[in-house]
Amino acid sequence: MHILNFISFQIHPSALKQGGIPLVACCISAAEQANVPITVHFDHGSSKYELVEALEMGFDSVMVDGSHLPFKENISFTKFISFLAQAKNMLVEAELGRLSGTEDDLTVEDYEARLTDVTQAQEFITETGIDALAVCIGNVHGTYPASGPSLRLDLLKDLHKMSSEKGVYLVLHGASGLSKELIKECIQLGVRKFNVNTEVRKAYMECLRNPKKDLIHVMASAKEAMKAVVAEKMHLFGSAGKAW
Ligand SMILES: [Zn+2]
Repeated sequence: MHILNFISFQIHPSALKQGGIPLVACCISAAEQANVPITVHFDHGSSKYELVEALEMGFDSVMVDGSHLPFKENISFTKFISFLAQAKNMLVEAELGRLSGTEDDLTVEDYEARLTDVTQAQEFITETGIDALAVCIGNVHGTYPASGPSLRLDLLKDLHKMSSEKGVYLVLHGASGLSKELIKECIQLGVRKFNVNTEVRKAYMECLRNPKKDLIHVMASAKEAMKAVVAEKMHLFGSAGKAW
């Protein structure tokens, strides 16, 4: 997951709640059978309970999301899980700053305050020993406004300069809807993992909403639609054709 040559199946806490251990086992099995490197990742773990549980389920990596906590509490929360996860050879991603679902309803000050601060990020990395940092540079979960994303690439550059000295990779959540050029720039500025959910989900849902065939074929074509999006993204991220 932490280099562009990897794909990662990411399981969100709500999916884990729904699918439980069989879902994780399915993902691990599918990853093992693939002829390209695939890891299985627990995404946005925001409570100690769910993260400690996830540590025992066979994930390759976890994301510790303490972004709802005050800075110092985020450090101790992330440090605690990071210590446990790394003892099991799992990679740890954590978030600093606060990702918005949407930019609506935020004042400019609120919006700015949610961006990842370089000085804080440096302290955060040193204190927690994480492997990857999810940054907030204007990226959002879900859909970008019609005007498109406005990412603070200057901030990304500063974050990269600092994090690369510490051997920590940068992660960009909310990568659905980023142009080819923007993806390329982000890669150049140190992003090594892109999280894409909205576009994959949309392709699947659209097939189900407008069924052209009977149920069995609808499911098959929905899967094909998702695969097409993933193939396109792999090409964009430079991970296409990278087999074991
Ligand atoms: Zn995310």
